[in-house]
Amino acid sequence: MKVLRCRDAGADCDFEARAETEEELMKLAAVHGKADHGFADGVPTEVATKLQSLIRDE
Ligand SMILES: [Zn+2]
Repeated sequence: MKVLRCRDAGADCDFEARAETEEELMKLAAVHGKADHGFADGVPTEVATKLQSLIRDE
């Protein structure tokens, strides 16, 4: 299971995404970023790159 925590990216946010694949995880992150962090046009590439480096395997 892959896990991505918004807090690890420096956001004051308790969101945590869990998915079987990195692709699915980034989809969840995009939905969350749009809903809660104002990324109306999707998560910017530089943010997505940072998030990918924060993904953990559990
Ligand atoms: Zn968040």
